[in-house]
Amino acid sequence: QAPAAADYLKGLNPEQRQAVETTEGPVLVLAGAGTGKTRVLTTRIAHILSQGRAYPSQILAVTFTNKAAREMKQRIGLLVGEAVEGMPWLGTFHSIGVKMLRRHAELAGLRSDFTILDTDDVIRLIKQLIQAEGLDDKRWPARQFAMMIDGWKNKGLGPAEIPEGDARAFANGKGRELYKAYQDRLQTLNACDFGDLLCHPIRIFRAYPDVLKEYHKRFKYILVDEYQDTNTAQYMWLRLLAQETGAPGQKNVCCVGDDDQSIYGWRGAEVDNILRFDKDFPGAVVIRLERNYRSTAHILGAASHLIAHNEGRFGKTLFTDRNDPEDGKVNVHAAWDSEEEARAVGETIEQLQRQKHNLNDMAILVRASFQMREFEDRFVTLGVNYRVVGGPRFYERQEIRDAMAYFRVVAQGADDLAFERIVNIPKRGLGEAAIRQVHDTARALGVPMLEAARNLAESDELKPKPRAALREVAANFERWQKALDNTPHNELAETILEESGYTDMWKNDRSAEAPGRLENLKELIRSMEEYESLRSFLEHVALVMDADKNEDLDAVNIMTLHSAKGLEFETVFLPGWEEGLFPHQRALDEGGRSGLEEERRLAYVGLTRAKKNLHLWFVSNRRIHGLWQSTIPSRFLDELPEAHVEVADAGNSYGGYGGGGRNPYGASRFDDVGQKSFSNTYATPGWQRAQQNRTEATDRNWGSRSGHSVERIGYGETDSGFG
Ligand code: ATP
Ligand code: MG
Repeated sequence: QAPAAADYLKGLNPEQRQAVETTEGPVLVLAGAGTGKTRVLTTRIAHILSQGRAYPSQILAVTFTNKAAREMKQRIGLLVGEAVEGMPWLGTFHSIGVKMLRRHAELAGLRSDFTILDTDDVIRLIKQLIQAEGLDDKRWPARQFAMMIDGWKNKGLGPAEIPEGDARAFANGKGRELYKAYQDRLQTLNACDFGDLLCHPIRIFRAYPDVLKEYHKRFKYILVDEYQDTNTAQYMWLRLLAQETGAPGQKNVCCVGDDDQSIYGWRGAEVDNILRFDKDFPGAVVIRLERNYRSTAHILGAASHLIAHNEGRFGKTLFTDRNDPEDGKVNVHAAWDSEEEARAVGETIEQLQRQKHNLNDMAILVRASFQMREFEDRFVTLGVNYRVVGGPRFYERQEIRDAMAYFRVVAQGADDLAFERIVNIPKRGLGEAAIRQVHDTARALGVPMLEAARNLAESDELKPKPRAALREVAANFERWQKALDNTPHNELAETILEESGYTDMWKNDRSAEAPGRLENLKELIRSMEEYESLRSFLEHVALVMDADKNEDLDAVNIMTLHSAKGLEFETVFLPGWEEGLFPHQRALDEGGRSGLEEERRLAYVGLTRAKKNLHLWFVSNRRIHGLWQSTIPSRFLDELPEAHVEVADAGNSYGGYGGGGRNPYGASRFDDVGQKSFSNTYATPGWQRAQQNRTEATDRNWGSRSGHSVERIGYGETDSGFG
């Protein structure tokens, strides 16, 4: 028994401790948000290590994001009291999948240096195949087929295994052939898509039992966070690996999850995997955690009440013993449009900042990524630091960085880093020696490299070829710099990329990625239109990049609700709670219950990210896809219990609260706040059914809790506001 053991086990509640100490045999922790599931996983790994039950390299641990993996590594180090020497198998399904596939690439017909194609690459490739088959790619869009392939891969299905109906549904019955052709093409290109990162290993494990056995021997413990969002392929992969871990016949696998936070159904996640755990791992110990350590009673009360409107759930009790009268209620704000919404959120943030709150502790969680732009713009104006977490890393792409480097040299001639990046891209016959000479001259004369290049081009210190190249580079930049003042900057940008030969470089490139890079360059130029000048555009990008890079910077976090899973923040802003945006129109169009319930789980995830302060917003007018639409408050707002919610004074024309005499099923109590009428489209029956169901579900699956002298939030609470 390691002496440190007492330390890291201290402070765990009995159920958490059981989950940590039951190291041998299968364990499932099924519990609500903020109950310490992730903490249990982390502590469990620390426990296994400090007891000497396994080396770091013998533990396979799956997290949902790379960021979560990094954090877990750090915390384990802190718990164990020493730096953990690498946890090579701690990561996301994909990152672990890549690693395995690189080790056995040849068994999948690949070389170990295979490329991973992104969605754009995949779509382009499929388009070529569709055209090669002589099919009309308008009638049979590549994007649609890419989604079908992704769906099959999420289920672990190869071309031979897809259902007959599926295969018939695309391209006059050529679906299967096309899928096969696609896989063959990938192999020729020595490439794979994201789905392959798990599908190939699964196939390898099945075809080569000794490879699988090697992993059985290697891994003594397997742990999985956010288990509710595993898809079938991930589940298959996991089950193969978990057949035996540790001693012969042993299955040391521990999964933690929350059915109420399953939000990736649209990507093939199967919440039923939780139900099957018992069957696949007989004798599994199932542990429930009910105490929430994260949020105030108001936040927890609001979240529990909201999620209770879902029918398909286990139902569970959540309580907190936090009972600080200072804790504020959940705030609901109204705004005229998204600009006002962003302005008001910005004001609140500045106010919090003046009260010495860290920006790091604040997050804006959006339903759709287009919502981010308005906040980003606002923060740039205010000079408030922000970072976009897990966003599309558009500005980090190679071609975008190259293009930006050209623009930087034009706008800021002294930007040597930028100059060095592109001085020989495309290739101009400038070798290392020539570039070093530019460097030396610049240092000797105390001038920027661009100017040094100009000097060198006129001297005879260089051989004719590099000298000519430098002369051309210098002349080009001089011309572009002159044009800066009298040419629209986006036009100039396009000219620069053309005249420098940069665009041509990608046009002549035969790699699978080249066309996508050209598209990105076009998008870059398009997006520049929105800025006044090249300089303000560069500034904007620098800020975004800087915030992204510098994890230590104090900055507001902006991200989608989907990527906020598992995280927590002191203060959370949830903008855009309007019908059509949240719940999203797609879910509403589906008509069925499942899409709407997934949206509600997403809302639950959003609410439960907050520790202390929670601000919800809805606007009366929003521009969606370029069109102004007048909007109505989200039904989810109406599903929040009055006892825990306060309609905040938005500091604008609204203010009032539409309380008295309302019928909660016919009209929103936020009508008066948002000055609009609320449609009748979602009426009673579903809700009442939900209420009945949830009582049953509670009894059936969870039994009742008693003996705690703490405030209980959730099912025990009466729905007074709605009675
Ligand atoms: P989610 O479902 O959102 O992923 P979770 O169940 O994984 O939540 P954690 O993130 O592990 O919950 O924990 C929530 C917060 O509660 C964290 O700040 C964690 O440090 C804290 N916490 C968990 N258990 C305890 C405990 N026994 N004592 C004090 N704090 C705790
Ligand atoms: Mg967690």
